Amino acid sequence: MKLFRTLIPLREAQSMVLRHVRRVGVEEVSFDLAAGRVLAEDIISEMDSPPFNRAAMDGYAVKAEDTFGAAPDKPLVLHRREPGSESEELNEGEYIPVQTGMPMPKGSNAVLMLEYGRERDSKLEIFKPVTPGKNVSFKGEDVRRGDIILNKGRVLRAADIGMLASIGKSRVKVYKRGIIGILSTGDELYDPKGSSKGAIADVNSYVLAALMGMIAKPSRMGIVRDNYDALKAAIESCITDCDADAILVSGGSSVGNRDFIGDVVEDLGEMIFHGVAIRPGEPTGFGIINEKPIFCLPGYPVSMIAAFEMLVRPLIEAMHGLKGAMIRQVFAVVSKKIPSAVGRTDFVRVRLYHDEYDGKYYVEPIRVSGSGILSSVTRSDGFVIIEDNKEGIEEGEQIGVNLW
Ligand code: AMP
Ligand code: MG
Repeated sequence: MKLFRTLIPLREAQSMVLRHVRRVGVEEVSFDLAAGRVLAEDIISEMDSPPFNRAAMDGYAVKAEDTFGAAPDKPLVLHRREPGSESEELNEGEYIPVQTGMPMPKGSNAVLMLEYGRERDSKLEIFKPVTPGKNVSFKGEDVRRGDIILNKGRVLRAADIGMLASIGKSRVKVYKRGIIGILSTGDELYDPKGSSKGAIADVNSYVLAALMGMIAKPSRMGIVRDNYDALKAAIESCITDCDADAILVSGGSSVGNRDFIGDVVEDLGEMIFHGVAIRPGEPTGFGIINEKPIFCLPGYPVSMIAAFEMLVRPLIEAMHGLKGAMIRQVFAVVSKKIPSAVGRTDFVRVRLYHDEYDGKYYVEPIRVSGSGILSSVTRSDGFVIIEDNKEGIEEGEQIGVNLW
């Protein structure tokens, strides 16, 4: 098998990949198991939150008007509402002690903080006035009934789970985690979790599994030797036994390799492209077997990560109905020229730092070459993508930094 004669531009490769997206199904899960999953419905609150006016401080519920004019040298006196009659409306000149979170007694409209009153014998001396509404959280002030509070297509975060809890939404629709079959190929590889020995630890299958987070379900199918029949059998098993929605194979994807992956894809299905004008990650291939996307990724871990970010992640995001991106981007000023060549898209590991003097964020490339240097990624804060029509990014320009 050979690489396609010309490398195709990244954008073209991405649109070919996205043409083969098949959206995964939807399932309903308990809200507390939904963190990191993609929401498949708009969440509309069926209640107000808070559900009633409640005290936002420990203190005394009062009618604010009763406190007007109070001062340290001219305290006013209120009378404690008799216990047992709390369901009735507070009368003029009365107060009821309240704790944070308790419903506001009827007729009260403010909470005087504990330290601005002195209670003795069912009487309260107050030293400071409060305005109406002071220290009260009002019904519906957080969420109103009928509000859309979380939009479909969002990756659920920790606070979102709290929001679901607070509005009593116990089950939510999320996209199913698509099964992503992962294979590593190479005679030299060994599994660091196993007892077998070899020259090189299988890094890629663990990295790939971690890169997809919670949105998809990685299924590591082990190491395959550089052998046509073994590879073919492993890929078939990804499709039949593990019912993969997509397959990622790393290693043996470049020319001159004893690479059988291209041949296997051609024999079982169709290779759509092989060779993309990106660096690193050039020998990336993409094909379809039984309508399932299969990526042939480079063996070098850094190249593989680059290819994942530029080509695989967009597929996984689209399969799971994600709106926006899994990865966050911030803009920063380039502090050292980032070189690149016209005609290819560069994936550059960068460090981001904050200059306390001018308050700005700066970004600089990590100066290590070689796709075998995994520490160039662990030491980076993120990566930037330099488009193929650019000859690099000059010092002083702004650029979007994708954060790990
Ligand atoms: P290949 O593309 O198979 O020629 O591999 C290129 C380089 O990446 C070789 O040095 C391989 O040993 C290394 N490599 C391939 N697969 C993996 C893997 N799963 N984990 C770590 N390194 C790998
Ligand atoms: Mg190999």
